[in-house]
Amino acid sequence: MNESATRSETAPIEVNGVTYRWPERPVVVVCNDGGDPEYLEGALAAGIVPNTARFMKAGFAATAQCVIPSFTCPNNVSIVTGSPPSVHGISGNFYLEPESGRAVVMTGPELMRAPTVLAAFSQAGAKVVSITAKDKLRQQLGKDMDIAGGAINFSSEKADRCSKAENGIDHVLDLVGRPLPDMYSPDLSLFVLAAGVKLLETQRPLLMYLSLTDFVQHTYVPGSPEANRYYQDMDALFGRLDRLGAVVGIVSDHGMRDKSHPDGSLKAVWLQDELDHAFGAGTTTVICPITDYFVAHHGALGSFVRVYCRGPEPAAVMRLARALPGIEAVYDKAAAARAFELPLDREGDVVVISDANTCIGTTPAAHDLKALAGQRLRTHGGLAESQVPFILNRPLNPAYAARAARGGLRNFHIFDFAINGTG
Ligand SMILES: [Zn+2]
Repeated sequence: MNESATRSETAPIEVNGVTYRWPERPVVVVCNDGGDPEYLEGALAAGIVPNTARFMKAGFAATAQCVIPSFTCPNNVSIVTGSPPSVHGISGNFYLEPESGRAVVMTGPELMRAPTVLAAFSQAGAKVVSITAKDKLRQQLGKDMDIAGGAINFSSEKADRCSKAENGIDHVLDLVGRPLPDMYSPDLSLFVLAAGVKLLETQRPLLMYLSLTDFVQHTYVPGSPEANRYYQDMDALFGRLDRLGAVVGIVSDHGMRDKSHPDGSLKAVWLQDELDHAFGAGTTTVICPITDYFVAHHGALGSFVRVYCRGPEPAAVMRLARALPGIEAVYDKAAAARAFELPLDREGDVVVISDANTCIGTTPAAHDLKALAGQRLRTHGGLAESQVPFILNRPLNPAYAARAARGGLRNFHIFDFAINGTG
């Protein structure tokens, strides 16, 4: 290896305005999808997460703000790019394309406007791994990673179909020693962590991102036996990552709230119905950007929607929305983009956010409510789900401790803190 190659493989790397030093030891960032602080509090109170408890005491723990809308795609892309949606362009799972008026899934890597920390290190010669539970996130998280050069990128959902050419790895089920997990089970996430442990043991990547899924949090309340069992199982795997010598950062994409009446029935605002009634059918389009094919556990109901106006003025839509019980905040396009650092060209004319106990849908027939099957709806998207735990297994150095003390911590600072803030 010549001198210039050596230097380039350890030089600091700038990504989206943040300079990352070359880590001395492996760095693993875990996104515990839907990991509302209440789940951690329940598990800590039960005394079943000893590794996490130790990290919080000996390392660093705080509460951070996620990106609004508090949905999975915008926050995962924020975490891997270290930037808000105004920089990377992914502001929901779905948006309405202005030119065509079509609803477009935002999981395409071509919609991303910023490079990821993972890709930058991969291209500089570091061994980089990204594993996600849901395959829908895989391409964005793995965008521009150098698979031919040794990077690994796959989902537990399709772990049985990995190839060297596409994913940088094959025979994943054999490596992990677990069967292909069910889509709607805690195992879909635990498989991701177990695969991360195996790869850290066998290949020792420099950077690893492990993104879980929120099936458990959508389904079970904090402190319940099922939720605590999941936290206990995750904690055991966090402990193994720690013992293998990695810097471990744990963060969440968003929180989770119960959106039901006291009797357990759904507490929803049917906004398209309300707007059609007031302004006429076909004059507005409500887009629920939580929508994806993976909806059985939330019926595509969240707490943040975008309204596109073809007839009524946005101000009239805003007046109507503000008057509806259960609505917490209403913004016009420019104000929403400014308040939440969202890309203006992908914003609706009006943004409507419901309160902690209420969700927003279009019209009942458009949502698969049978899938809820008598369960209380737990979901996210709004301001009430914007607080997430931010944990490192090692203490911060003085510069980052001072920065954390100043406040304003975001979940997408986790790679910065894990790489630059420890040691
Ligand atoms: Zn999520």
